Amino acid sequence: MEGEEQDGGTMKIERLLKRYRVEVGKQFRLKDYDPADTHGLKSELKPQARQLLAHGVEELSRLQEILAAQDRWGLLLILQAMDAAGKDGTIKHVMSGVNPQGVQVSSFKAPSAEELDHDYLWRNMKCVPERGRIGIFNRSYYEEVLVVRVHPELLEKQKLPKPLVTKHIWQQRFEDINAFERYLTRNGIAVLKIFLHVSRKEQKRRFMERLDQANKNWKFSTSDVKERQYWDAYQEAYEDLIRHTANAHSPWYVVPADNKWFTRLVVAAAVVHALEGMNLQYPKVDSEQKAELEAARQQLEKE
Ligand code: ATP
Ligand code: MG
Repeated sequence: MEGEEQDGGTMKIERLLKRYRVEVGKQFRLKDYDPADTHGLKSELKPQARQLLAHGVEELSRLQEILAAQDRWGLLLILQAMDAAGKDGTIKHVMSGVNPQGVQVSSFKAPSAEELDHDYLWRNMKCVPERGRIGIFNRSYYEEVLVVRVHPELLEKQKLPKPLVTKHIWQQRFEDINAFERYLTRNGIAVLKIFLHVSRKEQKRRFMERLDQANKNWKFSTSDVKERQYWDAYQEAYEDLIRHTANAHSPWYVVPADNKWFTRLVVAAAVVHALEGMNLQYPKVDSEQKAELEAARQQLEKE
């Protein structure tokens, strides 16, 4: 009975995930995705959602342990979003049950002088997770086709040779990003990309909250309000990058982000789904190793 319920739950989660997963970019339109969507789950069901999330977090922790033990696959989780969409809270909640040794979070801010002296993937490559680990990119090389596209003066700071900066540069970056992600995938590092899709209205509400509540003041940044003026340009840049970089082997999830409880549920499920796709298994002990284990047992018993 319980098994049936669980299977039903798994099927529901699978359907829910499918709604937000983009594997073929060509036809993608952002306006088909509602930031306030909760897949018919009512907010009265929040406690149930919390339970589902707890179940997802538990499953994630179980799979992460096998990921580490097997030491073959790795997972790169990329989080992109407008300000106040909830990247930090999502990481905190979704990863809450996972052994901290198995996860590494890298945050990518405006590049330093040293970083600008290199190709743009350089700083990202150094942070790609090793086998057995989950690596989280809090922002990523996708900023190269987002903030840099919205503010072309940033491109000038990149010290690229002039003849290489043409109108094709964004298309070229998409191609290079696709090639890079295919490369990682072929090396056993799965790439999972999440866009936390928040509405302009909800962003304003969250900014106001940061202003109104003393203990949230520290989160407020005037530059975030300035960046908000470029909202439409960002949305267009997001749409275009998803169109060009969504693949079956490295899908984008466009996750509704106006309701945090729902966002976290979907992200946890997406990570579990990616790990399940690896068909993870504890390493098998061969007969020679079994004999060694037996010898160790006998030695301990003799003490
Ligand atoms: P939080 O505000 O929660 O601390 P955050 O990710 O918004 O997290 P910030 O320091 O506020 O961190 O912002 C980082 C800034 O760095 C963003 O505005 C982002 O667009 C910018 N950035 C990231 N990568 C690049 C890049 N390659 N080129 C230029 N700007 C970048
Ligand atoms: Mg910020």
